[in-house]
Amino acid sequence: MRLKPEHFEPTDTALHARLSAIDVAAYGKTRNHLNGRVTRLSPYITHGFITIPELFERLPKLKLSDKLAFEFGWREFFHHVWSREDERILSDMRPGLPGVRYADELPDDIREGRTGLAVIDRAVHQLYATGYLHNHARMWLASYVIHLRKIHWRMGADWMFAHLLDGDLASNHLSWQWVAATFSSKPYLFNAENVAHYAAADWHCAGSVLDTSYEHLDQIARRNQTINTVPSLVGVEEPGLLTRPSALITSTIPKAERVQLVHPWMLSQRSFDGLRIGVIHLPFHARFLWSARRWQFVTDRMMAITDALFIGDLNELKDMLSETPYVESVATLNPGYDGLLPQLCTQLADAPRQFANPAKTCRSFSAFWSHCTEAHPQRGWHR
Ligand SMILES: Cc1cc2nc3c(=O)[nH]c(=O)nc-3n(C[C@H](O)[C@H](O)[C@H](O)COP(=O)(O)OP(=O)(O)OC[C@H]3O[C@@H](n4cnc5c(N)ncnc54)[C@H](O)[C@@H]3O)c2cc1C
Repeated sequence: MRLKPEHFEPTDTALHARLSAIDVAAYGKTRNHLNGRVTRLSPYITHGFITIPELFERLPKLKLSDKLAFEFGWREFFHHVWSREDERILSDMRPGLPGVRYADELPDDIREGRTGLAVIDRAVHQLYATGYLHNHARMWLASYVIHLRKIHWRMGADWMFAHLLDGDLASNHLSWQWVAATFSSKPYLFNAENVAHYAAADWHCAGSVLDTSYEHLDQIARRNQTINTVPSLVGVEEPGLLTRPSALITSTIPKAERVQLVHPWMLSQRSFDGLRIGVIHLPFHARFLWSARRWQFVTDRMMAITDALFIGDLNELKDMLSETPYVESVATLNPGYDGLLPQLCTQLADAPRQFANPAKTCRSFSAFWSHCTEAHPQRGWHR
C-alpha cells in the first residue's frame, strides 16, 4: 500500500503500511524536522489499533537508548500522570508564570489561521485539513497561543484536542501545560531561526515578531502584555465540532452469553468468542467534542470490527447486560467511561503498558524515565 503522509485510514492495512515504513535509526536523526521520518502512528495508538507493548514486540531490536523508545515512554509518562492525578490534569499542575493574566477565548485570527505568521497559519490549515500535526508544529502553535497572545493553555488545548485524530487528554493537555510552564520549570519558546532550521521555506517567519532572541521572547512571555498582530483578511473556516457521529447509526443489540464492550480507545481487530458491542458514551463526548473526521475514523473502524453499536449513556446498558454472565472490556481513563466500564464488566483488563506505573506521581519525564530504566531496570519493563 502506498502511504499518503497525512491520510489516515482506519484500517489494519493502513496501520501495517505505517509499521513497515518505520526506520528506527532515521527516526532518531530526523524526528525534529517537519519532513523527518516520524511514524504518524498516533491516531492508531490513541485509538488502540495497536498498543505500546505490541509496538515493542513488533520492533524487537528497539533499545531503550533509541529515540523512538523514548517517545513511546513520553506517552506512557503522560498516562502515568493521568492515572494518578485523574481530572486534575485538566487544570494547572503547578502555578504558572507569576503575574501573567491569560484570556479565556481563542481569537478568530488564530482559529481561522490568518495571524499573518506563516508558521502558525500553516499549522492551523494542516490541522484542519488532516487532523494531524508534527510534534514541532504542535509546540510552536501552543507556544505562540500561550506566550505571545496570552491565551490560557486550556483554551488552546481543548481546541487542538478536538481537531486532532489522535487527540488524547493526557498527551495533549499535559503537553500544553509543559509549554505553558504549569507542568515544567520554564516556558517553551521558539524563534524564527528555529522554524527555519526544522521547516520548509513556506513556514518561515523571518522579519516577524518571532525573529528575535530567546532572551527577548522570555521577557515577552513573562510580561502581562500581548504582542501586536497584523492578521490577514483571508483564512480558513474552522471545521464544525460534534458531540456525536453525524451519520445516523442504529443497531439492535441481540442477547448473548458473552459480550465484549469495545470503546473508542481499544479498536484493535482481535478474535472474541461472543458478541462485540461498540460503545459510545455520549456524556463524555458532550464535554469533549470531536471533528467530523475523527468521528468517521472511529465509527468506521468500530462498525468494521464489532457486531453491534451502542450510542447513548452507558448507564442505560446496565439493565440490558444485567443477566449477561460474561462481559469484558479494557479499562480506559477517559472520564465517564472510566467509572462505568467497571460497573458493566465482569472482567476488565488493565490498559496495556510497556513501562511501570509508579505508585506516586512522577512530576517530570526524567523522574519517570529513571524510575523505569535506571533505578528498577528489571521492574521497569512492565511485562
Ligand atoms: C501541544 C502538544 C499537543 C499534543 N497532543 C497530543 C495528542 O493529543 N495525542 C498524542 O498522541 N500526542 C500528542 N502530542 C505528542 C506528539 O506531538 C504526538 O504524539 C506526535 O507528534 C504524533 O505523531 P507521530 O505518531 O508521527 O509521532 P512519532 O514521533 O512517530 O512518535 C511515535 C509515537 O510516540 C508517541 N509520542 C511521540 N512523541 C510524543 C510526545 N511528545 N508525547 C507523548 N507521546 C509521544 C506517540 O504515541 C506517537 O504516535 C502533543 C504534543 C504537543 C507539543
